[in-house]
Amino acid sequence: AKREGTVDGMVVSRRSGFYDVQLPSGDVVLATLRGNVRKRGPVLTGDRVKVRLLADGRGVVEEVGPRVTCLARPPLANVTRLVAVVPVDHPDFFLLDRVLVLGEAAGLCSVVCINKVDLDDEGQAGAWAERYRQVGYPVVLVSARTGQGMEELAGLLTGHVSTLSGPSGAGKSSILNALVPAAGAEVGEMAARIGGGRHTTRVVRLLPLPGGGLLADTPGFSRLDLVGIGSRDLDRWMPDIGRWADRCQFGESCLHRGEEGCAVARAVEEGRVSKHRYQHYRRLIDEVLAMEVRRYS
Ligand code: GDP
Ligand code: ZN
Repeated sequence: AKREGTVDGMVVSRRSGFYDVQLPSGDVVLATLRGNVRKRGPVLTGDRVKVRLLADGRGVVEEVGPRVTCLARPPLANVTRLVAVVPVDHPDFFLLDRVLVLGEAAGLCSVVCINKVDLDDEGQAGAWAERYRQVGYPVVLVSARTGQGMEELAGLLTGHVSTLSGPSGAGKSSILNALVPAAGAEVGEMAARIGGGRHTTRVVRLLPLPGGGLLADTPGFSRLDLVGIGSRDLDRWMPDIGRWADRCQFGESCLHRGEEGCAVARAVEEGRVSKHRYQHYRRLIDEVLAMEVRRYS
């Protein structure tokens, strides 16, 4: 429906009843919600809205568009890109695979970002990158410190609403500050904003990227438990596993946990699926099964 006299925008931050809405021009207006919009449920950062501009320069949100994706913690709508950050000095690929699973389940297009390549004395990053390229993910090797690879990363974010994810110390704040020069000292300590002692309801903000697109100033998954992921779907959220799961003779009933004759197990033996990835699948499926047992018993 077209609303007379309204303009399209996107909510880039919110705090107690007030919404910063970025207009196509790049200008940001402070807006409140029209009553009928408020009644329909929470409006999230990332929501696409129609705002009526008032004479005093403020706005009123009159309509909220459908969401393509919706993250719960922090609440963030319409994110399309997940940047999964792995630091060269303390890589944790089980954590990376968990984050990628959460990203797939949320409908995001993930990029694997190996950071601190200036510390890659043993030259391991190339092999890690290859492992994830084989899964199908774009992989960038970057150094937030030296700037290496940062342009390539920026290119992958153009036109997207993106969020960074990864362990504390991976370099998320450093990457954010390199990508969004205007963010400056205001950002930093990304994780500290969530839940912590701060008396503010603002938990996440979208910052404009110079090349177009927006980047969240808070990691996309503040909780990494596999809520909402079922034992029957896990293989779908690991595309390299799912590719073989589709060909498994045991069909839907197979959880690919080493059953004799399972197509996934065979693909691993033949080197078509990374052993690391399969081991992580096995750990994740056990975790999901344990959750299900707890829920149904
Ligand atoms: P966050 O917890 O993920 O936000 O990580 P930070 O951005 O706070 O970075 C953690 C530490 O790693 C800081 O001391 C950074 O200076 C350092 N760091 C970040 N990126 C790089 C990099 O590319 N190379 C090196 N050598 N150190 C980095
Ligand atoms: Zn199977």
